[in-house]
Amino acid sequence: MTTQRIIDILEQGQVGQRITAKGWVKSRRDSKAVTFLVLGDGSSVKTLQVVVDEAVREAAQLQLVGTGASVAVEGELVASPGKGQTVELKADKVSIYGLADQETYPLQKKGHSMEFLRSIAHLRSRSNVFGAVFRIRSTLAQATHRFLSGQGFNYVHTPIITASDCEGAGAMFEVKANTKDHFFGRPAMLTVSGQLNAEALAYGLGRVYTFGPTFRAENSNTNRHLAEFWMIEPEAAFFDIHDDMDLAEAYLKALIEAVFAERRDDLELLNSFVDKDLIKTLETTKNATFVRLTYTEAVDILLAAQKGGRAFEFPVAWGSDLQSEHERYLTEEHFKLPVILTAYPKEIKSFYMFQNDDDKTVAAMDVLVPRIGEIIGGSQREHRLDRLEKRIVELGMKLEDYTWYLDLNRFGAVPHAGFGLGFERAVMFCTGMVNIRDVVPFPRAVGQAAF
Ligand code: ATP
Ligand code: MN
Repeated sequence: MTTQRIIDILEQGQVGQRITAKGWVKSRRDSKAVTFLVLGDGSSVKTLQVVVDEAVREAAQLQLVGTGASVAVEGELVASPGKGQTVELKADKVSIYGLADQETYPLQKKGHSMEFLRSIAHLRSRSNVFGAVFRIRSTLAQATHRFLSGQGFNYVHTPIITASDCEGAGAMFEVKANTKDHFFGRPAMLTVSGQLNAEALAYGLGRVYTFGPTFRAENSNTNRHLAEFWMIEPEAAFFDIHDDMDLAEAYLKALIEAVFAERRDDLELLNSFVDKDLIKTLETTKNATFVRLTYTEAVDILLAAQKGGRAFEFPVAWGSDLQSEHERYLTEEHFKLPVILTAYPKEIKSFYMFQNDDDKTVAAMDVLVPRIGEIIGGSQREHRLDRLEKRIVELGMKLEDYTWYLDLNRFGAVPHAGFGLGFERAVMFCTGMVNIRDVVPFPRAVGQAAF
């Protein structure tokens, strides 16, 4: 007899069918004549109710089995008289794989805090909320590959160890061998972004994307920054900033559609227990036309709000980087929609961004969504070699450090653009989780590398 996953049993199981179900006991309830086991196997947040009568109960030593124990149950599917399920399993045999001590199993009780669950990260995926979060994380990863390959993007792998502080995107971790100084013949770091390598590949393959780990020594304890996080970086030749924004908007919508199509149960659970507005926010985003405006227009809105009495911790001024509170004001309070900001002052953005004619701004774009703020950062890249070189020199950087990168645009330069989506920020957005440490199974952040 083949084992069926609980989601299949609940969706396809017929009354009268013989089934073997394997899983973990979520709860056990005894009455005089029967015991009810609620069984989950991780395939879904849904559970299978198992009814065990007295004779089977005694044969199986079921008195030992409690929340967290693992079992295999054989029996017949019967119509369920109870609410909340259409079939249940009438067991004629229960075998125990492993018991879980009821005194010490930490997930016995419900209603643990997120902080506590973080301290048992090796066990928390067994809880309903974390099961839902990590299933959605998987769906988002698969949907990323489907969407981008559907748009003709090739999945490429860029190095994790790098010798160039490519974009000054953040403080870096140094990589050292314990056998040899300068193993690579020069100082080496963990990458902060695969972008410059992706640009090289885009000039060969037209459209590429990376999906890999990136590392930033963010020495700040925010709930939106990890030291190790995953980033998706599409890069396309013959793309301008508008194509880039269109791709970013379509990609976010495709992610939401995949979660609605594949993980409706998990969304509903999270909507009940984590964020009451989750489904509404995702619906709104999926159906919205993202608001597009320039950084300068955004600053005007923020200045007007400030004048009208809206207090910000950091004052707003043209030329300084927007803080999370400013981004969230725009998307959550002012527009109540996702927002794409463009044309940022060149001083606060990276050297490689396409220089606008005003000589003050560059063709950058950040996508801001409610509850998160910046979820995507991207730009059209400067492909005009003379301008690129001039900017590198202006910023006091050395041209010789960028020889290979400059070569790209020395031969066959074309307009091109791309962006980086912080994968964990996307998972936060699609699950309602408020702390980025709770959307990656084993978080690495300042002061935190357990498990
Ligand atoms: P922020 O201003 O939020 O710190 P950033 O502008 O430094 O982000 P980018 O260099 O634009 O980030 O990186 C692209 C995307 O990667 C960001 O839009 C964000 O979604 C994500 N990201 C950046 N830093 C982190 C981090 N430390 N942890 C998790 N995700 C991050
Ligand atoms: Mn950014």
